[in-house]
Amino acid sequence: MKCKSCDGEALVRCSSCSGEGIDYGIHKCETCAGEGQLACLECEGTGKVSLFKKFGSKTS
Ligand SMILES: [Zn+2]
Ligand SMILES: [Zn+2]
Repeated sequence: MKCKSCDGEALVRCSSCSGEGIDYGIHKCETCAGEGQLACLECEGTGKVSLFKKFGSKTS
């Protein structure tokens, strides 16, 4: 689905889609402000977090 925050323009600084242009559950990591710090446990250094991952690890 197209990102509503940037209207699908895939803005790099868009916190809703992390520059993907498509909002499929991956958002900018708020713990490290999307900087992707290696020590960040939330995003494991990617700067992006999946909402699916946040809601538990029952589904692989
Ligand atoms: Zn966006
Ligand atoms: Zn992070």
